[in-house]
Amino acid sequence: MSKTRTPAIDGWFKDGPNPALIGTQCTSCHSIFFPPERTFCRNPACMNDEFSDKELSRSGKLWSYTTNNYQPPAPFVSPKEEYEPFAVAAVELADEKMIVLGQVPAHIPVEQLEAGMEMELVVDTLFEDDDNEYVVWKWRPV
Ligand SMILES: [Zn+2]
Repeated sequence: MSKTRTPAIDGWFKDGPNPALIGTQCTSCHSIFFPPERTFCRNPACMNDEFSDKELSRSGKLWSYTTNNYQPPAPFVSPKEEYEPFAVAAVELADEKMIVLGQVPAHIPVEQLEAGMEMELVVDTLFEDDDNEYVVWKWRPV
């Protein structure tokens, strides 16, 4: 039986053939937020509390990266019984110029990463249980 593909976080990204992060945009001052802000505009000069969802750039430049050599604390769940280090990328979105962190898919070694390179968004497995494959956005070199 195949597992159900399930977003690890609801409402933060769109899966499918054209995956994208979902941010929100203030309907008054047009500031863009990720993670999606849906309560009050974080612009101190703005008193608005209405937002529209907005798909963010699917690509950007690698700003910084590192390797998680040790297992992060809960709620992190290791995809395998034995913890395997993975790379984490900070990418500056092409249009919004915001920095968004994400894992790098496990099969891409950190040696392939280089600051300034073009990265694109993918949706990939975060971890699995007996019934579900939990997925999250990740960054990979273009
Ligand atoms: Zn605003």
